Amino acid sequence: MAKITLKGLRHSYMPNPSKPADYALQELNVDWEDGGAYALLGPSGCGKTTLLNIISGLLTPSHGEILFDDEDVTRMQPDERHIAQVFQFPVVYDTMTVYDNLAFPLRNRGVPEPEVDKRVREIADMIDLTETLQNRAAGLTADGKQKISLGRGLVRSDVNVIMFDEPLTVIDPHLKWQLRSKLKELHQRVKTTMIYVTHDQTEALTFADKVVVMKDGQVVQIGTPVELFERPQHTFVGHFIGSPGMNVLPCEVRGGQAFFEGEPVATWNAVHAKEGAKLEVGVRPEFVSFSEKGLAVEITKVSDAGRFQIVDTRKGGRSIKLLVPDGAEIPEKHAHVSFKTDHTQVYSDGWLVTGGE
Ligand code: ADP
Ligand code: MG
Repeated sequence: MAKITLKGLRHSYMPNPSKPADYALQELNVDWEDGGAYALLGPSGCGKTTLLNIISGLLTPSHGEILFDDEDVTRMQPDERHIAQVFQFPVVYDTMTVYDNLAFPLRNRGVPEPEVDKRVREIADMIDLTETLQNRAAGLTADGKQKISLGRGLVRSDVNVIMFDEPLTVIDPHLKWQLRSKLKELHQRVKTTMIYVTHDQTEALTFADKVVVMKDGQVVQIGTPVELFERPQHTFVGHFIGSPGMNVLPCEVRGGQAFFEGEPVATWNAVHAKEGAKLEVGVRPEFVSFSEKGLAVEITKVSDAGRFQIVDTRKGGRSIKLLVPDGAEIPEKHAHVSFKTDHTQVYSDGWLVTGGE
């Protein structure tokens, strides 16, 4: 097992990249702690697979280096890196039995047969493949085949990191939930560093202790699920994570005070905001409530979300959503809302404004 460090990493698929848009990965500096359960979360095309392939060695980065502990592995072959990678679509040997598929990565490395048998049965048990061990892989459904791929990723005990690239894409919805909790449980047992790639926030937040959020080839925030919820470092994180996502409203800042539509909005950080950038106020729907005074809004829609109701309101052509407990009274049409100051913050060109700038 090892700590993984990405230093000044950039990658372009073009032979002569010149501008930032030519890079699939902008400059990345990330430390992955030994034994961590990470999710790599971001929309399709943001560079997740590119990053995984660079860590595993399937791709050599245009710039920068990858260290395992303190050893530079940037130019090492994939099989020298001791990594297990599970791809989006199953990779199985159809003519082999399920058992032989699971045993393959171990036999390939000369692990003694009694040890192979022990590991294969352990893993098969964890992911419910015991009954089908002697079947040929060819006869299995896509679900079954992807379970074999997962199993093959998990079977070795000598890997530095196990990487999963959107592994549940082909899995039936009812099985997804089950496998996701299995993976989490497994991480707690084996404690190998795991990087789980997904574009689905629920998958990321349930699996990971730490989530690495990517957008356009850039890492925008690395944090625990609670940190991403409470202190989004970028409006993208606020918007992408949470349902519904954070409200983002254009604002002006004068004399350390934020204003939306000419009305003052209390925030915890406006005093640090500088002029000359695109300024916005962000507040999650969880931290907006109806009040006597505050911003005058018009209610446009109320929807039921289980224990909560999502109330859509508008002011000056902008949407402000709030979450109110089920059963709480909701005004007819006109209302006032206020924001919880310690969870209301100013963003400058998308980034959270902090005192250190
Ligand atoms: P993700 O896995 O987050 O969906 P990718 O890493 O696959 O994103 O892709 C990041 C960007 O790099 C995208 O713009 C994609 O079109 C581009 N890209 C990916 N693979 C290749 C390739 N083999 N050749 C050229 N461009 C690629
Ligand atoms: Mg991908």
